[in-house]
Amino acid sequence: MKGSIRLFKIFGISINIHVTFFLLLILVVPGGIKWLALVIGVFFFVTVHELCHSLVAKYFGITVHEITLLPIGGISSMTKMPEKPIQEFLISIAGPLSNIVIMLVLFFPLKLAIGDSVLLNFVHTWQLSTATWPLTVAYLYWINLFLAGFNLLPAFPMDGGRVLRSLLATKLGYQKATKIAVNFGHVFALIFAYFGIIRFNIILVIIAVFIYTAASSEEMHVDVKETLKKFRVRDILPRDFITVTGSTTLAKILELIFHSHQEDFPIVEGKGLVGFATRQDIMEGMHRFGTTKTVRDVMRHSFPKVKDTDSLVKVQTIMHENGMRALPVMKGAEVIGVVTIEDIGRVYAMASQRT
Ligand SMILES: [Zn+2]
Repeated sequence: MKGSIRLFKIFGISINIHVTFFLLLILVVPGGIKWLALVIGVFFFVTVHELCHSLVAKYFGITVHEITLLPIGGISSMTKMPEKPIQEFLISIAGPLSNIVIMLVLFFPLKLAIGDSVLLNFVHTWQLSTATWPLTVAYLYWINLFLAGFNLLPAFPMDGGRVLRSLLATKLGYQKATKIAVNFGHVFALIFAYFGIIRFNIILVIIAVFIYTAASSEEMHVDVKETLKKFRVRDILPRDFITVTGSTTLAKILELIFHSHQEDFPIVEGKGLVGFATRQDIMEGMHRFGTTKTVRDVMRHSFPKVKDTDSLVKVQTIMHENGMRALPVMKGAEVIGVVTIEDIGRVYAMASQRT
């Protein structure tokens, strides 16, 4: 995530801290060393929570690049979320479960260390305090209950929203389950907004907006996926396409771009595909070297390829993961076309149009 600093790497996942986190530090520092300890403790528990999501995801073969710690909690960047309900359920429940396990494990040691009355003070008074160190430790302990509880709210983008979707999906299918979970998200957002407004609590209002938009974008995301699943590359592949050889000049390529609808070119030598140049590669190349250089100087040598039988969802995922807007399409060893993000967008726009 932009604006974050890497702290360390564990299990191949980098743990980053977002710069806005330092705002939080500035806010709590006047509160004294106990508040600082509290913040550090919270972020330790949030990191454990996110790591548990990530480790279960890794177990199911999903790549997790990084965990970013924000003042409002943590975000694990996963390449995708599994659609198998049981996998999504286990990944989502792992985080809140870790906080509950922490509470169970720490209960007796803390009871011995700081005493019954201090540890359970919260249960009796519903108040948390940093008046003394033992009370601060108890505060930190109970924060795990909030982390588990808040994240288990059945609303996207909370873990509970995913838990709900996965449970519904076993009976109703993925898309319908998502719709219901999204509606839950919207209802929760409205409830938060209501209390935020009548109590002048700006944080609640921010959370409400966050939940509302995240729920809507999850619905959109699933709609796109479900629509694109119905199409294969060969269903939408433009009929005519141009290949070039490595010695084609960038000036010539520019001319081809102007005279055709194609902006990304497979480079073929003999019978084999030897390179690929996207619109961006070509434009950057012209900027750096001028138009007299050849496409060989700017082309990519390693790049993902897709098959004509691949589904558009798969193609979109590959594009996303590799940061490419176009990919060469293969049938066996032969390149038979180029598929672009615009092609996919057009198909989605047509297929999802409701009359
Ligand atoms: Zn979580």
